[in-house]
Amino acid sequence: MRLKFTEAQRIRNLPPYLFARIERLIDEKRAAGVDVISLGIGDPDRPTPDHIVEELIREVRNPANHQYPTSVGMLSYRRAVAQWYKGRFGVELDPETEIVSLLGSKEGIAHISWCYLDPGDVVIVPDPGYPVYSGGAILAGAKPYFVPVYPGDGYLIDFDSIPADIARKAKMMFINYPNNPTGAVADEAFYRKAIDFAREYEILICHDAAYSDVAYEGYKPPSFLQFPGAKEVGIEFHSVSKTYNMTGWRIGWAAGNPAAVEALGRLKSNIDSGVFQAIQHAAAAGLTGPQDVVERQNAIYQERRDILVDGLNNLGWNLAKPKATFYVWAPVPKGHTSESFAELVLDKAGVVITPGTGYGKNGAGYFRMALTVEKERILEAISRIKEYIGEVEV
Ligand SMILES: *Cc1c(COP(=O)(O)O)cnc(C)c1O
Repeated sequence: MRLKFTEAQRIRNLPPYLFARIERLIDEKRAAGVDVISLGIGDPDRPTPDHIVEELIREVRNPANHQYPTSVGMLSYRRAVAQWYKGRFGVELDPETEIVSLLGSKEGIAHISWCYLDPGDVVIVPDPGYPVYSGGAILAGAKPYFVPVYPGDGYLIDFDSIPADIARKAKMMFINYPNNPTGAVADEAFYRKAIDFAREYEILICHDAAYSDVAYEGYKPPSFLQFPGAKEVGIEFHSVSKTYNMTGWRIGWAAGNPAAVEALGRLKSNIDSGVFQAIQHAAAAGLTGPQDVVERQNAIYQERRDILVDGLNNLGWNLAKPKATFYVWAPVPKGHTSESFAELVLDKAGVVITPGTGYGKNGAGYFRMALTVEKERILEAISRIKEYIGEVEV
């Protein structure tokens, strides 16, 4: 029977789900009793710090928090975000006009396209990159232009490689450093170039700073907003998810250009009714409370990173240690594709890695591993890869 309620074109335009095959294989392995080690998903494994959990428990008992929140967020939450930006980056933000709460930054990243892109409009998206940038744009009917980023450039976007006609047409551009999936970081010169590019072509920059506080050896990644002119051309998406192990809580924010913040808030007021206030209080406690929890967490990831990178390098890889994020991005051995290697590692070693093609065409030939499992499991993964796959040529 042919149904009248066929899927809308915008849904049909979404790319096919790339991990379906590997997820089926994982299920098969688990069903067969294999102790599968997943380095696939980037989701902090340690719990949210106690003082944040305690704040939630206190606030959940307050009936004032049981009603609808506002969709832009409580002023006290937005003030906590502003205070954090001031302390962490020296960036001044007006909590009333330059910050809006989000149901996790992913939600805002998807919805900003609805604020600025009409059907057929062009948005510049890095490849490889976080799939939500193009997904949100496609749902809005827009056309992503994928700008390839390369290891030789430290995975920084080469603005000169973007054709002028694309740059003239584009209304928006997504940028993300420290980067998922590559672990790349950006310096001041890069952000200044981004701002110049945005000014020249009148493009809204959407910077995704999800990993600004997951960094190693004392490195402190900057905020896009700390560079001159950023607020005129851009907005930054952030959340407490990765910084305080709060991915399940679903709270984030967008900050920067007041017109973009207002547009996002206006769109959201038509779709959602904001974040549960007790969760806003808890996130604020994270942002304004003791920050030693962040350093302790980063020390844990750093140890895991060293075990994983050293382990792979002993098997024939030649990887540098990422300065930030909890990802290790690596080339597949000679003769393999991203998919064939991910399947081999799962089949022989029971270890899940993510094929680079899940992040775009230009991720081909690479795979991503997340440092979100205990170090004993990483050691076990390495010893299984050594035993069942052996030394490789990359
Ligand atoms: C995890 C992640 C996010 C979103 O996290 P939220 O929990 O929605 O705040 C955004 N961007 C990148 C690149 C991520 O990896």
